[in-house]
Amino acid sequence: MTRAISKEKFMAQKIWLDGKLVDQQDAKITVFDHGLLYGDGVFEGIRIYSGRIFELEAHIKRLYESAKAIRLTISISQSELTGAVEETVKANGISDGYVRLVVTRGVGTLGLNPFICKNSCIFVIADSIQLYPEELYEKGMRVISATTVRNHPLAIPPQAKSLNYLNNILAKIEALDNDVPEAVIYNHEGYVAEASGDNVLIVKDGVIYTPPAEAGALPGITQRVVIKLAREESLQVIEKNLTRFDLYVCDEFFLTGTAAEVIGIVEIDGRVIGDGKPGPITSLLRNKFFQYAHGKEK
Ligand code: PMP
Repeated sequence: MTRAISKEKFMAQKIWLDGKLVDQQDAKITVFDHGLLYGDGVFEGIRIYSGRIFELEAHIKRLYESAKAIRLTISISQSELTGAVEETVKANGISDGYVRLVVTRGVGTLGLNPFICKNSCIFVIADSIQLYPEELYEKGMRVISATTVRNHPLAIPPQAKSLNYLNNILAKIEALDNDVPEAVIYNHEGYVAEASGDNVLIVKDGVIYTPPAEAGALPGITQRVVIKLAREESLQVIEKNLTRFDLYVCDEFFLTGTAAEVIGIVEIDGRVIGDGKPGPITSLLRNKFFQYAHGKEK
């Protein structure tokens, strides 16, 4: 997601920070914020498609659930935070883009104690986004299996979208070291959990399979929408544990996520998937997702 931001844009961009819209250069957070000191916080990434904030309610709900899981009290209500996201998108005049919504534990001391932090710190960034080039969607993406194991569910619940993404970052580094953009992460039992920033879905004999959240996946909002769209097309979708072997021998393989949307995988660990191109069900769902998100044909 590397982009050059012009100086004018940098100055003009408005960030919502703790109740106020401020210029980007004034959107500053103290070094005593526990989000920075300990990765203590939660976040969401949300798309804006054709002027509409996509699945905002679901993202807000997941954020508050992530916060609850780590005993973080968000100092404003869900409707106030929804308003803050809408206000930020409007203030930046973005009709197609991406929102990053972050809640940290707030300002504390150098000790771990989170309850010393009196107020959570909340900020909202609305920006443009281009995760992968269009060509990658047409040709499909290569991935590897990460050796880094997904966080054990009794350590950090993978269902909570916490600010501590080192588990995912270590898998991403493995991918980049192997000249591919993404890596599949397996859980402590060897079952597929998810990719470093996306959910995993495969097709075998016309049926779609995806790992359950209990396998160590974030319950993806894009994944849920894509499953709904697949069922509307009378496709069968089954949540079940998947092994590395299942990925090696599937007919189609794709990832879903807010940033990546729906992207076909054509190779994993040197094994070519199907005929080496994104498969027909992947392409169908990618198109359906576009229509659903934008409210129009591509
Ligand atoms: N898994 C992880 C680890 C993620 O960070 C994300 C979001 N980028 C997803 C899955 C996909 O979730 P969603 O479709 O809600 O963006």
